[in-house]
Amino acid sequence: MTNKINRRDLFKATGAATLGIAFHSITVNAASAAETGPKLISLSGNENSYGPSPAARDALIDASSRAFRYEYSAQLQFVEKIARKEGVPADHIVLGSGSSEVLCASGLAFCGNDKDAVAADLGFGMVAGYAGRVGGDIHWVPLDAKMRHDLDAMAQRIDSSTGMVYICNPNNPTGTIVDGDRLRDFCASLPSDVITVVDEAYLEFTDNFEELTMLDRVRAGDNVVVTRTFSKIHGLAGARLGYAIARPDLAARLTDSKMCKFQGPFAVSAGNASLDDVEHLVFCRDRAREGRALVHGLCDELGLEYSDAVANFSFINPKMSNAEFKARMLANGIEAARPFPPKADWARVTIGTTEEMKIFAEALPKVVGA
Ligand code: PLP
Repeated sequence: MTNKINRRDLFKATGAATLGIAFHSITVNAASAAETGPKLISLSGNENSYGPSPAARDALIDASSRAFRYEYSAQLQFVEKIARKEGVPADHIVLGSGSSEVLCASGLAFCGNDKDAVAADLGFGMVAGYAGRVGGDIHWVPLDAKMRHDLDAMAQRIDSSTGMVYICNPNNPTGTIVDGDRLRDFCASLPSDVITVVDEAYLEFTDNFEELTMLDRVRAGDNVVVTRTFSKIHGLAGARLGYAIARPDLAARLTDSKMCKFQGPFAVSAGNASLDDVEHLVFCRDRAREGRALVHGLCDELGLEYSDAVANFSFINPKMSNAEFKARMLANGIEAARPFPPKADWARVTIGTTEEMKIFAEALPKVVGA
């Protein structure tokens, strides 16, 4: 577990960071404070407390005057832009109302008709849940001792009834990652009719995105679907925008299973502007890294276990019931941690703004009674 810093270091480091990015930081911090309000800090939803980039905010305001339009052609141009960014032809891109839509579509498209899903437990359950809606059984495979996907155990669970394997990388709620080459080998080893859906909702928060993304497997024409979202590092959860990248035949099956056939001016304009605002993305990734280091450093000081999370959240063991931890955090003005059985008493803490994390750092020792 690397990059741990104590509270004093964090305040020094974040002070310098805040000065170094003065204008950008002030803009997004002020907006974030207005959204979260003075009393309750929300560190529970894995959103990005810094919110949309200044450019995306401007784009949203600008789009308001065009809200009566569908603007379908703008969506087509946006798809072209995403395709260029991902290095694939446009027929590989399927937009969704959040990545949820394309993930749910995967469950519907690749399961049912005697085809089942294999997924990790503990993990993000939505995708497998949709497999269940079309009659697919869900085979849950426990995480390994370090709370990572256990790819060997998952491979053993795959048989002629498997339609889809769902890998969430980094995993929610543990924040852990599986090694890129290990995952590539896993995808390559699967039977030719099994589709691997790799949910990369949080991958942009890691420091080695290129090594970890399975995009190269999609480009190579494998049975791999990669999903991305504008809800996390782009800070646009409310705009509902995400996409899948897949071989055209798989992309067409996803499109068939989608409910919402296109996105409107708000999502498309904001997403478009956000893709160009690289400074904001780097800023958010840097703050997430600092926040994780703060939480992990605190856990070390307080003798609490934590997973090796690399996303915009940490997963910690506060050594009390979830209800107790939640209540004590709330008493300190912080909303955090819903239960994630079977690790129901571990707590997922979303990394907030630097200011929010200072408040968390003051609260945690009191909450755990240190
Ligand atoms: N994938 C993971 C792992 C998530 O945690 C979430 C939301 O929290 C999503 C996908 C869906 O997000 P959205 O529909 O906002 O893109």
